[in-house]
Amino acid sequence: MIDATGTRLRPGALLVERGRGMPRLLAVGTPAEVASHPAANAARLVQRPDSVLIPGLVNAHTHLDLTHVGPLAHDPDEGFMPWIERVRDAREAEVESIARSVGEGVELSLAGGTVAVGDIAGSVGEGLNTTPFHVLAASPLLGVSYLEFFGIGRGEPAAMERLHALEAGLAERVLAGVCLGLQPHAPYSVGPAVFRDAVRLAAGLDLPVATHLAETPEEIAFVADARGPQRAFLERLGIWDDSILGWTGRGETPVGLLAPVLGQAPMLAAHVNAANDADLQILAKTGTRVAYCPRASAYFAAQASFGPHRYREMLDAGIVVALGTDSIVVLPPDADGAVSRISVLDEMRLLHRRDGTDPTLLLEMGTRNGAIALGLDPAWFTFGAERPIAGVVAVQIDPASADDPLATVLKTDGRPELLLAAASF
Ligand SMILES: [Zn+2]
Repeated sequence: MIDATGTRLRPGALLVERGRGMPRLLAVGTPAEVASHPAANAARLVQRPDSVLIPGLVNAHTHLDLTHVGPLAHDPDEGFMPWIERVRDAREAEVESIARSVGEGVELSLAGGTVAVGDIAGSVGEGLNTTPFHVLAASPLLGVSYLEFFGIGRGEPAAMERLHALEAGLAERVLAGVCLGLQPHAPYSVGPAVFRDAVRLAAGLDLPVATHLAETPEEIAFVADARGPQRAFLERLGIWDDSILGWTGRGETPVGLLAPVLGQAPMLAAHVNAANDADLQILAKTGTRVAYCPRASAYFAAQASFGPHRYREMLDAGIVVALGTDSIVVLPPDADGAVSRISVLDEMRLLHRRDGTDPTLLLEMGTRNGAIALGLDPAWFTFGAERPIAGVVAVQIDPASADDPLATVLKTDGRPELLLAAASF
């Protein structure tokens, strides 16, 4: 049994109390220690002798409403724009279809040992979309449903109107362990006035904010020089106007561009594949959290454009770096062409195998850091007696393996089994 704060028990045992609200850990220790707890006699016994137990995982950036699309093959040489157009075309527009897709995403997340998500609720037509929020609230998952919106150039006034309408009409901000958040889509699709309004609104209503940041070469070119495929895309949609030149085209990096709004509300930046030293300082100083999605970055060949992701330097600089899977669309399919789970365990495995990153640090990124990034209590994602626990995951390993058990989990492909989630919140 292993967590990111130094718990290492072999063998280990937990005594869990279920009821209304979050499950609680009554005892943590060796099997003999836990058996001596007064409540242990009446407990139902669940045994996983050949498994490593870890806390429930946190997927800090995903798009469960795209689950129906499934994995799509992609040639990075084609660039980002044809891909994003394919995803736009594949989006569902009806409430029932969106709810079904998010529901399938919830199932794949649970199959991945996930207990909390930062899920992006894609806008439907022009409107903010609360369907994923309600599906998540009815599910065992905790986390944030970030309402995504666009609004740049000619689209800015309408986006601001929708934000103001939200401010006036927001009934429930938190439902069954799921919080609403705001997701201005990205610096190339949301203008400065909308960003400022979103952050002001979020700070006033105590809503977390997320955005896609420093993801692709197309974004870098657009922000720095107001050129390239992103500009052509806005021109084609009839959204471009020259006011955008006051926002982009001034030689900024995406992180530098957003520096004035970062830190004004709890901010989670997805990807940050490109970051220079000044960007790292801005992220650290503003307390911006990063959701790194390693398989998504590999899918778009970010390393070929920007060099290796700087997540370890970010962590060294005090930046909270969590892990995300991004949507199912970028995930590698199994042999049968489908994806059997959506899990940051597979992101941890990629980083351990590719970079040799310390297993405990990866567990911290996949549990506690994800919780901090989503505004959840990180203690719920560690093993400690007399406090709530968000989930418990078992991963089977070969008990004969001489390696460190957590390293074995990351080196092998054992399926995560969610033994406990905060279902009865
Ligand atoms: Zn995303």
